[in-house]
Amino acid sequence: MEGVFIVSAKLNTVYIGLGSNLQQPLQQVMRAVDALRGTADLNQVRCSSLYRSLPLGPQDQPDFINAVVEAQTTLSPHALLAVLQALENDFGRERGGERWGPRVLDLDVLLHADTVISSEALVVPHPQLHRRAFVLRPLAELDENLSIPGLGSLQCLLSKLSPNDLAALEIVQPCSTSLLS
Ligand code: ATP
Ligand code: MG
Ligand code: MG
Repeated sequence: MEGVFIVSAKLNTVYIGLGSNLQQPLQQVMRAVDALRGTADLNQVRCSSLYRSLPLGPQDQPDFINAVVEAQTTLSPHALLAVLQALENDFGRERGGERWGPRVLDLDVLLHADTVISSEALVVPHPQLHRRAFVLRPLAELDENLSIPGLGSLQCLLSKLSPNDLAALEIVQPCSTSLLS
């Protein structure tokens, strides 16, 4: 058809970190994965196993349930963050408490293709990613050959974690039986 151009935005692979330690955290994370699957702008959503982890920061709070989701999206990093924050709000996330305090749902942008961003509202790759067993291990389930922009191979980052941190991580719902596909 003369004069008609179809412009398709590029699909990028993104990784989203999920965490909850309030109000039946396992259910919250499973519901959140469902919600991500139901988000029109996120395609081919895959989820890691669900893990139980010890809290960062204040220790007088319940253990966390964590997972990582992979998706394909045309959303920009900032647009993806906006989608995730809206979802956190839908789940009743309260803001303004102490850093790394208890929360019903945390959704972080871990990686957005090869993007590197360091703005006030958004840092990608997620600035704590390389320190966190509950992020690196589920990431490796989804793609063991991942390379993290500016940080090197995922396997190398995993090898630098303390064995105690890895040992403290417990799978509570394996990938193959969890979460709908
Ligand atoms: P952490 O980021 O260490 O896991 P947190 O998830 O508890 O801590 P939040 O309270 O959820 O932190 O977010 C605080 C702010 O972090 C948000 O308002 C957001 O603008 C900013 N932020 C920066 N980079 C990211 C990112 N990659 N993903 C999500 N939020 C980010
Ligand atoms: Mg977080
Ligand atoms: Mg967060």
